[in-house]
Amino acid sequence: MSSEGHFIPLSVPTLQGNEWHYVKQCLDTGWVSTAGSMVGEFEEKFRDYVGAQFSVCTSSGTSALHLALLVSAIGRNEEVLVPSMTFIAPVNAIRYVGAYPVFIDSDPFTFQMDPLEVESFLLNECSVGDQVINKSTGRAVAAILPVHILGYPADLVALQKIATKYKLKLIEDATESLGSSSGGSMIGSKSPLACFSFNGNKLMTTGAGGMITSNSPELARMAKHLSTQAKSEPAEYVHDEVGYNYRLPNLLAALGCAQVEQLTGFIKRKLEIAQMYDSEIQSRRLPLTLMRPSPSSEVVPWLYTVLLPPEKSSRELIGYLRKNQIESRPLWQPNHRSVAHADSPKRSCPVADDLYLRAISLPCSSNLTELDQIRVINTVTDYFRD
Ligand SMILES: *Cc1c(COP(=O)(O)O)cnc(C)c1O
Repeated sequence: MSSEGHFIPLSVPTLQGNEWHYVKQCLDTGWVSTAGSMVGEFEEKFRDYVGAQFSVCTSSGTSALHLALLVSAIGRNEEVLVPSMTFIAPVNAIRYVGAYPVFIDSDPFTFQMDPLEVESFLLNECSVGDQVINKSTGRAVAAILPVHILGYPADLVALQKIATKYKLKLIEDATESLGSSSGGSMIGSKSPLACFSFNGNKLMTTGAGGMITSNSPELARMAKHLSTQAKSEPAEYVHDEVGYNYRLPNLLAALGCAQVEQLTGFIKRKLEIAQMYDSEIQSRRLPLTLMRPSPSSEVVPWLYTVLLPPEKSSRELIGYLRKNQIESRPLWQPNHRSVAHADSPKRSCPVADDLYLRAISLPCSSNLTELDQIRVINTVTDYFRD
């Protein structure tokens, strides 16, 4: 039934606004590098959209995470609680500052860091005094780093409560959840530190880039300072600490300005695409399980993701779709399994393992046509009928 056709990619950018116009302005004026007015403009437009007080743009989402951990003063040989089921970037960033990740399992319905697992780790595996000490490693636990994966916010209300109770810092990886809300506030609007990414497959893109939003003038100032080589006396080139070159070039900030202007439209399309998948999966009675949002959250889906039936791997369906010119993918190898992090404390995360086996993300670019989406759904339907 499913007809051969052109290739349908998983998630590609839509570049149909003022991108050419703003980039041309940079080229015409010669402001292509890290100085130039687009950087500040992009920071302002982005923080206005999110509803944050401060914003610092960066060269990538990963460098935003690194800076957020640095300005939080997460120290060498401290530990940070992070979900195992995430793209590896936040886990790497924890190692960049010499700290270690403690992998927390996910909620099986929302796929997000499970607050019950966080609380259970702190209660059962730590001794709590002036500091929270992981009994198995002897290291101090300093922070919780939830990653709102796939556009679905983690249960921030619960995590915030735990962070306050145990005096832990909360740093949010919001790279996949621009536009989503938790407890009635947009992700990144009320946080001390939330990190965004503008990589090519994200909701909006600058080619490569990132942003920290913050409600703390001090943390934002420190992040900006460290991202610009910690220069304290520009004319004399005096630097007051070891900084980084994590700046976003004006040329890319120009793309960012054009993309923010289109965010409302991108989000509308993402919601329509997800609603169509949801309703077709249900009306055709396909054996796929939909994601559920955390309590009091509103979702702007990023990669549209569903689960195959228990024990069933998604890889055969991914191969079937590939043969039919449709790109899809599994979630990331859970980080507690990653050889890159083999020297971090061993923990079991059975839900993350199960999500890795069964989850599949389907094409959901904001410029996906209805016809192409129907072809995806028909091909998935054929897979289960064949
Ligand atoms: C995309 C992403 C990042 C940051 O990626 P960059 O490519 O460095 O911008 C970080 N964490 C998660 C969960 C991501 O999906």
